[in-house]
Amino acid sequence: MQNGKIGVTTENIFPIIKKFLYSDYEIFLRELVSNAVDATQKLKTLSSVGEFKGELGDLSIRVSVDPEAKTLTVSDYGIGMTAEEVDKYINQIAFSSASEFMSKYQNQTVIGHFGMGFYSAFIVADRVELRTRSWKDGANTVVWNCNGSPEFTLDEIDDPAMHRGTDIILHLAEDSVEFADETRISDMLRKYCRFLPVPIVFGKVKEWKDGKYVDIDKDNVINNVSPLWTRKPTDITEQEYKDFYHELYPMGDDPLFYIHLNIDYPFNLTGILYFPKINNNFEIQKNKIQLYCNQVYVTDSVEGIVPEFLTLLHGVIDSPDIPLNVSRSYLQGDANVRKISSYITRKVADRLSELFNTMRPDYESKWDDLKIFIQYGIITDEKFAEKAIDFMLVKNTEGKYYTMEEYTKLVREQQTDKDGNLILLYADDADSKHSFIQAAKNKGYDVLLMNGQLDNHFVNWYEHKHQDCRFVRVDSDVIENIIRKENEMPMALSTDQQEILRPVFESQMPVDEKIRYSIQFVPMGKDEQPVIITQDEFMRRMKEMAQMGGGGMMQFYGQMPDNYTIAVNGNHPLVMDILDGAEKSYGDRLKSINKKISAAENEQNLLLEVIKGKEDKDLSDEERTNRDALREKVDTLRAERATRLREIGAENMLVKQLIDLALLSNGMLKGENLTSFIRRSVELIGK
Ligand code: ADP
Repeated sequence: MQNGKIGVTTENIFPIIKKFLYSDYEIFLRELVSNAVDATQKLKTLSSVGEFKGELGDLSIRVSVDPEAKTLTVSDYGIGMTAEEVDKYINQIAFSSASEFMSKYQNQTVIGHFGMGFYSAFIVADRVELRTRSWKDGANTVVWNCNGSPEFTLDEIDDPAMHRGTDIILHLAEDSVEFADETRISDMLRKYCRFLPVPIVFGKVKEWKDGKYVDIDKDNVINNVSPLWTRKPTDITEQEYKDFYHELYPMGDDPLFYIHLNIDYPFNLTGILYFPKINNNFEIQKNKIQLYCNQVYVTDSVEGIVPEFLTLLHGVIDSPDIPLNVSRSYLQGDANVRKISSYITRKVADRLSELFNTMRPDYESKWDDLKIFIQYGIITDEKFAEKAIDFMLVKNTEGKYYTMEEYTKLVREQQTDKDGNLILLYADDADSKHSFIQAAKNKGYDVLLMNGQLDNHFVNWYEHKHQDCRFVRVDSDVIENIIRKENEMPMALSTDQQEILRPVFESQMPVDEKIRYSIQFVPMGKDEQPVIITQDEFMRRMKEMAQMGGGGMMQFYGQMPDNYTIAVNGNHPLVMDILDGAEKSYGDRLKSINKKISAAENEQNLLLEVIKGKEDKDLSDEERTNRDALREKVDTLRAERATRLREIGAENMLVKQLIDLALLSNGMLKGENLTSFIRRSVELIGK
């Protein structure tokens, strides 16, 4: 029997270990089971090189709990240790590496607290007992005991019942008895030990019998010793890739695609990444990739290791070359991690490119779900964008898919405007924007469907790269204005007539405090709509970006009201009728006031001609008085006419009806307004 002090210090580090890892206390189990795995692997190696000649037997590692005794035991059938080895490895090496670990990583949030080692047992135990028997011939059982102070006892005993290998028995501290709970340990083993390369047995398999679960005579192996990513890609079937995905994410839909990563130079990395089917909220699907180090689970947050846009992927990455005891902010600067990150990006791009080139129909059928990754990658990662633009697709309202190159080629001739800009039309919804889409198609144009969460960002990115190309939503203006051609359509309404009509329409403007409406007369075909309502492209995009959470200037746009234009078709017969009607209602007085206005305007123009070029201070008093008086006269007359025209407009059911029809066509007519529209329609039909 030997009594001694661990290590060289007299300081009691055990309470410090406990406190230090308090936020991460589960890791002790991972550390102890990893040691057991190492000991088992070492024995296998000794056996394969012929140094160990005995029977290997069942090498499963066994974890057990005893809630009564408040113990947790990890047993392995590996190499074990002799008394000298316990003294060397446990009393000296393990202790000094634990102390070193702590002095290095105290006050740091590091990934996974990896490699704390044997002494992490003291996070939960106030006494640790180690019983071990070396693989060497004639080795005795060695018992080491430590009660949480630096003192230990070391005994060599003759215990024929002891198996080869090591039992670590944790006598749990009062505040850690939860770790003698079967469910608790079962969950932790699932989390940390699920893919370890040696079978881990925890109790017996349970079966439902006579209304309760009972143990059957079969070891409950909690892990999969050869997870898919460790196998050769050529030996794996599509179904196996799918099954493995469901093993990782039992609740998930089938993944879209997978990528098998496998590299051993200049760094070591294996893994399988999946493109999951993203349901509407992509934030909650982020950070699901699990990081392993030689099949030992480290963390499920790879943030900082893979590029931001790839955190949308699912799957596993296993690499011994990722520094784990560093902070995340350090990771980004680490040369190895940067290499790993760009390797993964390149692999993802290559795989997508391969899928696109070899199985385009399948790729297209999954595009709607895939799009968000690719757009996310394009807008955030230049390197990825360079490759991805070749397999980034757009879909038109007919459901056909094109690459940007194919698409711009397709529409360039028709949709280039008179200034040489290529205008790409899109709609966010095929149903509610049907009339706009139809108007564009009537002109021989094509319309894209863009309703993804990142479409706006992609559009901005693309326009930035292609200065002669603009995306314009079909409802942002009348189609004649969206793509302006050399021979513009003339407008039947003269400027004077527009001035008569403006107040008539203004009297019936929809009232909505969140929307600002303005009137515009536009030349459109006679058979097109009499009135349509459009929304300015620029402002709308800015507002949408603000909603997605842009800061600064975006915030400002976010607070602006929506801007809509009521575009009145200056060639439509009904609009001409309304003009006619308004003129008739005004009667002869309209002619006389028009005359007065034009007389006053003439006079005003003459005077303005005379004083042109003169500054205000150089005018004579008479000129100044005259000028002001004429201005007031014209304004007053116009105001008088407008007031009367507004009264006339307010009584004109047709004006209201046309505006409401335009609102209806945009899905903007609701509530009380919709009800009165219907009532008015019935009245009009009855006439
Ligand atoms: P590390 O595993 O990183 O070397 P540990 O503190 O976990 O550090 O363990 C120190 C040493 O103790 C190991 O290197 C190994 O030699 C020995 N050891 C620990 N656990 C076992 C075990 N179950 N069987 C045999 N040797 C072990």
